[in-house]
Amino acid sequence: MSDLLARHRAVIPSWVALNYSEPIEIIGGKGCRVTDSQGRSYLDFFAGILTNMLGYDVAEVREAVERQLATGIYHTSTLYLIRGQVELAEKIAKLSGISGAKVFFTNSGSEANETALAAALSARKANQVLAMRNSYHGRTFGTVAITGNASWKASSNDPFGTHYLHGTDRQLPAYRNLSDAEFIDACVEDLRALLAAAIHPADVGALIAEPIQGVGGFTMAPDGLFRAYKEVLDEHGILFISDEVQTGWGRTGEHFWGIQAHRITPDLMTFAKGLGNGFAIGGVVGRGDVLDGIRGNGISTFGGNPISTAAGNATLDYVLSHDLQANAAACGDIIIAGLRTAANELKTVADVRGKGLMFAVDLADPSTGKPAPALAAKALEAAKERGLLVGKGGLYGSTLRMAPPLTLSEAEAREGLGLLVDALRAVDAETT
Ligand code: PLP
Repeated sequence: MSDLLARHRAVIPSWVALNYSEPIEIIGGKGCRVTDSQGRSYLDFFAGILTNMLGYDVAEVREAVERQLATGIYHTSTLYLIRGQVELAEKIAKLSGISGAKVFFTNSGSEANETALAAALSARKANQVLAMRNSYHGRTFGTVAITGNASWKASSNDPFGTHYLHGTDRQLPAYRNLSDAEFIDACVEDLRALLAAAIHPADVGALIAEPIQGVGGFTMAPDGLFRAYKEVLDEHGILFISDEVQTGWGRTGEHFWGIQAHRITPDLMTFAKGLGNGFAIGGVVGRGDVLDGIRGNGISTFGGNPISTAAGNATLDYVLSHDLQANAAACGDIIIAGLRTAANELKTVADVRGKGLMFAVDLADPSTGKPAPALAAKALEAAKERGLLVGKGGLYGSTLRMAPPLTLSEAEAREGLGLLVDALRAVDAETT
């Protein structure tokens, strides 16, 4: 065990996840590559943890932050006007497509979701929430309650009496062999039954959902499901919150916000991870009347501070001026098609899915067809040995998750695809 790992184990709680049997320390980065303390270089197909949306050492972001640092003001107080905060809010409000949108900035996705829940529950004078099975929304008191998988919950408290919908979970026998249209109908029927008998719709503030489940293994509801849900919710005035922490900013290629695949405009959207390209910033954008309705005034001490909003403005401007959404679509198509072709010969690969630069591979035991977390762990290590960093997760821990920087070049897309397929082939060859 390295000295740093031993020191980490001594002072950091044991449940803090570390990748790899020998965890690495990343000490440098440029473009889509990082270097560890042993001098090894890796192509980062997880963009940190979807945080380095533009990759590493991006001049535009560095210079914007340096300009702010040069003023001597890293932070004073959000009690004063902050130009970068207003400018960033204006851009995000416009991009949201929500009319009269307002934006509140936080430091993380968890806080963003807390704010969205507070706003929705206040607006509706309600105390209950609908969420999705196998969702992940954060590790604060409210967000663990709406996280739909016990193993990802930092506690089992639930102040809302959360009700979980099926939409992204097709494991139950009754749902398994349905077409997308039949599945959507069945899910809607389930929602209607819930609202007719199990709970009083007036008590429900919102449905919160990730358009593609991140920690859940990049699991996708069939396109149109959330529109079908929203039609039912609208009958009761229940609000819809789209958690875009992983799916926002064009990552899915086809749309700027993941929820647009469902052809709806949500009431509120939350974001975090990539916006600061590594600087901590999150927030909620949504209907002004709903966000204004949070009772009591106040601030977030650091939310929307000058440094994080300088980074956010520079990152967002870069995404838009370089049309990284189109790049995500082009590079994602190359990789997903390549993975699908390779999967035809790989007995341990059970599924390849994704959109744009958000794609996943499920590993399963070839003799039983059951999810194989141990094979995914091996593939994670095999990719690292080949110089490729990827993520792992999913409902059974058997999913490799990839979300490279949106600045990935087509050459890097092909290179990463080659390394990943090679790693998968090695695991496949070892498995009988
Ligand atoms: N929502 C989603 C979809 C996430 O994936 C995450 C984090 O992984 C969060 C919310 C919580 O964000 P944070 O870790 O910044 O609090």
